[in-house]
Amino acid sequence: MRGRAERHSDAVDIIPNAGDAALVWRGGLRSIAIRCPDGCGEVISVNLDPRTGPAWRLFERDGGMTLYPSVWRESGCRAHFILWRDDLIWCDGFESPRWKDDELKRRVSSILPPEGAPHKHFEELAAQIDGIPWEVLWTCNSLVADGKASASDKGSRFGLAPATPTTRSSIVDRRA
Ligand SMILES: [Zn+2]
Repeated sequence: MRGRAERHSDAVDIIPNAGDAALVWRGGLRSIAIRCPDGCGEVISVNLDPRTGPAWRLFERDGGMTLYPSVWRESGCRAHFILWRDDLIWCDGFESPRWKDDELKRRVSSILPPEGAPHKHFEELAAQIDGIPWEVLWTCNSLVADGKASASDKGSRFGLAPATPTTRSSIVDRRA
């Protein structure tokens, strides 16, 4: 993150290298300019102002800036990436990081809908605990991997997993 400028053209001037980014701030947050991280040289402008159309959300936390949702160039180089806490995550063959935050796991578990209730979208879960949507998604995925949650709707909605499978399988083991 190279700073902020009042105009898009000024922002472009301070982001010479691939992966550089600068905020356009004019009486409020307008957009973020990113020099395409794949090295093609293009500047990507991402709208952050909901008054002017579909807008991405910018989260500023201790670990840096996070943009949600992902940035996907539909023309040219077609770069697709996530900006997460000032780090870049490529989305080719997307694999969810195993998010290691146990405190977040506990908080997400406590708000997951019970078994049988309609699953909730991870964006809604994130809003409930003021979390970063990516981190709540990765936490949900890691709860699914632990057998504690179940997913639906292409892995975007989550709920608590049935609480019994371990008991049931241990009975089967004993009989076998
Ligand atoms: Zn590019």
